Amino acid sequence: MQYDHILIRYGELTLKGKNRKEFIAKLHDNVRQALHNYPAIEVVKRRDIMYISLHGEDPEPIIERCQQIFGIQNMSVALRVENDEQEIKEHALALVQDQPNIQTFKVTTKRSNKQFPIRSQEFNHVLGSYLLKNSQSLSVDVHQPDLEILVDIRMDATYITSKKIPGAAGLPVGSSGKSLLMLSGGIDSPVAGYLTMKRGVELEAIHFHSPPYTSERAKEKVLDLAEKLSYYGYRMKVHVVPFTNLQQKIHREIPHGYSMTVMRRMMMRISEAIAERQNILSIVTGESLGQVASQTMESMHAIHAVTNYPVIQPLVTMDKEEIIRLSKQIGMYEVSIRPFEDCCTVFVPTSPKTKPRLEKVEEFENQLDIEQDIQDTVDATEIIEVMEKSDAEEAIDDLL
Ligand code: ATP
Ligand code: MG
Repeated sequence: MQYDHILIRYGELTLKGKNRKEFIAKLHDNVRQALHNYPAIEVVKRRDIMYISLHGEDPEPIIERCQQIFGIQNMSVALRVENDEQEIKEHALALVQDQPNIQTFKVTTKRSNKQFPIRSQEFNHVLGSYLLKNSQSLSVDVHQPDLEILVDIRMDATYITSKKIPGAAGLPVGSSGKSLLMLSGGIDSPVAGYLTMKRGVELEAIHFHSPPYTSERAKEKVLDLAEKLSYYGYRMKVHVVPFTNLQQKIHREIPHGYSMTVMRRMMMRISEAIAERQNILSIVTGESLGQVASQTMESMHAIHAVTNYPVIQPLVTMDKEEIIRLSKQIGMYEVSIRPFEDCCTVFVPTSPKTKPRLEKVEEFENQLDIEQDIQDTVDATEIIEVMEKSDAEEAIDDLL
């Protein structure tokens, strides 16, 4: 069966009242952006639905790509036919006959085009009887049918579909502003980034690395994670912060029990400075309460005290198993478990304070002249832009 359309049904954005138009426009942009490798297709937005005219393209890879776009509740491949009773009947029959393994079906008609002469309920019967008459051994089951045939009679045409394929849900990326994701090479922060993007937030990432203590391959791993995250948006800037000097200074001058807390505070200050420079209004981390010494209530209190920016911690109440499950589900896990050192683990003291006292931290820090170090580090930060591999190759081809 040659399906000629994909119907896209909106998720939560339908609740958004006056902003609805903007949300739909954002989703429309994101869908077109994600599918720009298919120049033949056409993406049309309507108030209640979006559809893709395939113009001969195979729907499968397109649907797969669309499953990474937030703001889509579900999708269906569809046949577009004239608003004509006989046409609808024949195409619906072809669709049923294309599914050899079904025994029961049900027809659900939606008629937003009130000029179509047969009302929805009645049309369910009309079409149902036609299908029964013309197909052997099928029966109707209105409660648990093997196949539900959806007939959407609209002003421009009628769309006949069956299965609903789940989308990624959430809100369109870019509809809720921008955040700076503190991205390590670990399991947690990419998941935190994914969940934040799901709420419609566009991300830039910041990564602290400490060569030669951390290797080039550790940095590559982080860029690979960022690239995977960028599929859910479009492209992503990664701010790579050279952290060696500051880490060595902290290691030298701060009592070891407190060095981890001070190091985290430095990371937070630098993140804030970069966010400010990029006009970004919040910071995201993969912190999860109680997971490690830096994630006790006291540590989080001392670390977060250096910034007034909202720090979004989507994983704060999740346990590791839930996080790992999500990480696998979104395809990050295999990259996250590549065995390279993170700057935080290289310099981590053997027994960091799990209950650092804020006055103490401040007292130790006062002995360092940090303002200049922070400024120098921010200035030396490298910005790398990552995007989907196929797009990157295309961009290089354009340059050559
Ligand atoms: P992750 O799996 O994300 O590394 P974790 O459980 O290992 O997290 P920590 O190492 O304590 O926890 O890090 C807590 C959070 O601090 C991370 O989730 C991340 O947001 C941030 N972070 C840690 N290391 C770095 C780094 N090198 N660069 C940027 N952010 C970092
Ligand atoms: Mg880590």
